[in-house]
Amino acid sequence: MQIIKNQKEANEWVREHTKNGQTCGFVPTMGALHDGHISLITKAKSENDWVVASIFVNPTQFNDPKDLINYPKTPELDHAALENSGCDMLFEPDVAEVYDNSYVFPTFDFGGLDQTMEGAHRPGHFNGVAMVVYKLFNIIPAQRSYFGEKDFQQLAIIRKMTNDFGIPTTIIPCPTMREHDGMAMSSRNIRLTPEERKAAPILFKSMVACKDLIDKYGLEKALQLTKEGIELSGVFKVEYVEIMNPDTLHPVTTTIEPGRSRIFLAVKASNTRLIDNLCL
Ligand code: AMP
Repeated sequence: MQIIKNQKEANEWVREHTKNGQTCGFVPTMGALHDGHISLITKAKSENDWVVASIFVNPTQFNDPKDLINYPKTPELDHAALENSGCDMLFEPDVAEVYDNSYVFPTFDFGGLDQTMEGAHRPGHFNGVAMVVYKLFNIIPAQRSYFGEKDFQQLAIIRKMTNDFGIPTTIIPCPTMREHDGMAMSSRNIRLTPEERKAAPILFKSMVACKDLIDKYGLEKALQLTKEGIELSGVFKVEYVEIMNPDTLHPVTTTIEPGRSRIFLAVKASNTRLIDNLCL
């Protein structure tokens, strides 16, 4: 695997490797890689001739400066995991390479997709995400780009941004990888205390159980019981539990559509914040 830090060289690498009609799949990440990330690499590998990953902890998407400072970094392990999973090139720029002063970013309009959930709780977060992904898409002209449903709202926003700007890459959604006990894999999980880690499966279990609660008690009461159930663990404080239309990301207010409506949650533990979602 080749590691490239310079944007011009990374762009040339992709253009050179795809000049005879070969395809390239792109997997952007913030590093501290786990099997969820690797599942994206594996999928990209199965669908393209070449796979490019990026590792860049993007400062503009962190609304909490402490979260940015504490974001886990495991570069040696990441390089080995990418190499082993068949990644062909890693683009690993520093901050000045991505945010050089000469670059002019467009203004993004997410058509309201950013008004709920993560957008409502993390001011500026999605603008920062769109900035970095827009720039990465310019540097890495891949035919396909892979994003996890773990960050479902981010996936929706990137899909819209890609469409709005006519960026010629196809966005491929990938399912959420979970630990055996149901906890969604996340780079932030290593910041959980042992007690929080032990309690974490309640998040997945509560999302699964919510469907039955809706059938029994209706939507509003089911959401209230789900929130109370999670907080009874004594270790998580719920920021939101909501059921959304997967296209508009607006709350479902009356009846859910099985197989389409999605439950989303965000909770705070002592040192970290976790998000998860599930199709009902
Ligand atoms: P991150 O490094 O957290 O920015 O994530 C990079 C990519 O991996 C994003 O598209 C995420 O949605 C995806 N991802 C993160 N966690 C998981 C997971 N547990 N399963 C599948 N994809 C994931």
